[in-house]
Amino acid sequence: MCCSVEIFKNECVAEFDMTEKQPVYILPENVSRTLGRDAQRNNILAAKIVADIVKTTLGPKGMDKMLVDSAGNIVVTNDGVTILEEIQLEHPAAKMIAEISKTQETEVGDGTTTVAMLAGKLLENAERLLDKKIHPTVIIKGYKLSAEKSKEFLREISSDVDNKHILKQIAMTAMTGKGAEGNREQLANLIVGALDQVGNTRVIDLNTIKIIKQKGGAIDDSELVQGIVIDKDAANEAMPKKSENANILLVDFALELKNPETETKISVSTPEQLQQFIASEEYALREMTQKIISSDAKVVFCQKGIDDVAQYYLAKSGIIAYRRVAKSDMEKLAMATSGKIVSSLQEIRKEELGFATIVEQIKKGDDVMTYVRGCKNPKAVTILLRGSTDHVLDEIERAVKDGLGDVAAAVRDGKVVSGGGAVEMELARRLRAFARTLGGREQLAVEEFASALESIPEALAENAGIDPITLMAELKQRHESGGIRDGINLFSNRVEDCLAAGIVEPMRVKLQAISSASEVATMILRIDDVLVASGHKTSMIPKSSYEGMD
Ligand code: ADP
Ligand code: MG
Repeated sequence: MCCSVEIFKNECVAEFDMTEKQPVYILPENVSRTLGRDAQRNNILAAKIVADIVKTTLGPKGMDKMLVDSAGNIVVTNDGVTILEEIQLEHPAAKMIAEISKTQETEVGDGTTTVAMLAGKLLENAERLLDKKIHPTVIIKGYKLSAEKSKEFLREISSDVDNKHILKQIAMTAMTGKGAEGNREQLANLIVGALDQVGNTRVIDLNTIKIIKQKGGAIDDSELVQGIVIDKDAANEAMPKKSENANILLVDFALELKNPETETKISVSTPEQLQQFIASEEYALREMTQKIISSDAKVVFCQKGIDDVAQYYLAKSGIIAYRRVAKSDMEKLAMATSGKIVSSLQEIRKEELGFATIVEQIKKGDDVMTYVRGCKNPKAVTILLRGSTDHVLDEIERAVKDGLGDVAAAVRDGKVVSGGGAVEMELARRLRAFARTLGGREQLAVEEFASALESIPEALAENAGIDPITLMAELKQRHESGGIRDGINLFSNRVEDCLAAGIVEPMRVKLQAISSASEVATMILRIDDVLVASGHKTSMIPKSSYEGMD
């Protein structure tokens, strides 16, 4: 039986030096400690709870969650990683699961629910083996073997991305079941169009695609802008609202006179002297703007501030100027307009300028946005999302990001797999066959790994109100008889070749999910001692919650 050592106030863990009978203090006061089987159970239960939280959101028929934070802000979402980030988990093992979901998001941009569920299920299944007195190191070995084998099998069963239509299907699959579902075809076109414009190689930098949200209008009004849209108005009302065939200057220094580095006093004794001082400042600013005017720039984007006097001179010459533009926008503007970001007045030359057919400010509702469009072969573009409320816009943005991540991942590897649980079923079948070739007890762990993979189609069915037992039997039988791409199509509610039905996912999403989930599961299984410092908010699950589970 397991044991736990609780350390109460003013007591420390002590070991006795047998000769002197003096306590030897090892840990500071008030450290709470959970040991052995207790530690494992506690962690496994936490991981399972996290997996169960996101489980109901999986797939096209998954439900959404409404999350309200302490300030009353509301988020309605279906996105695994967003849920796990928003609920601010305290338990250390739960946090580890949330972390792999985040890694999945940053590495591939999708599959965040899948990875959390897989990790939870791997641990839940491991518990069954622990109960049978199988040592954690054996389970860990079996899981590692399974993850390696799964990656090998994934490569075998994946298909090539051989046409553009598949990319659109990937984007549409990623957006199924999200707030954007009704408009997924149109949004998929925007995603594929954007990636097509910015990526000429297999490596696509998603930072070159700006997503901007504008409240008002319908999702239908969302568009792909061949250039950059920035959430800003010109620096001065007197500046024009529109400029055509505009040369664009990008500067990252302030168009102001430098403030003296140390405090400086200027004494003037006559009004003439003051006049002279002001005139000299004005002269310097005029010189500065003259340099811009003579470079033939019609629009200026400045990363820092622009002095009022400089604004006046620029406006007088019909130049539109923007101040305090975000660095990320400056970089995107440079890529879109083929201009260079200039760092000093001396460097301002015509050759450094970018170009756009139209730069215009458009007011919609209360917001003014500036569109820089009609760039020649832009290497950065903008997807402008429209929607009725902020909540709708946020959820569409998450869906579009999933779509972008998935299509970029598919382009990178050139490999896709069949969705609707098909790939998980096939991996499970192959793993079970592989398990039979193993001697030892690892065989049991490989089988549990396979069953964890099967929990994905099971959850897809459950969330859609389909009886999982009948479905799983049918899926297993189909895969046994060679239907390697057969999954559950939740549009037609039929078991069929999901790849052919257009339910397509990038291989990378599955690769990443399997390796992260097995890594975190094995890491958690290796823990047999949890020490929590006093004052830390982390609450381990009370022992009473899992006692008697044997
Ligand atoms: P994740 O955060 O893991 O990406 P999702 O809620 O996006 O979770 O669900 C992804 C799962 O939904 C994948 O397993 C995918 O194959 C499946 N899926 C997507 N569209 C369909 C569909 N039309 N029918 C069945 N399964 C689908
Ligand atoms: Mg998804």
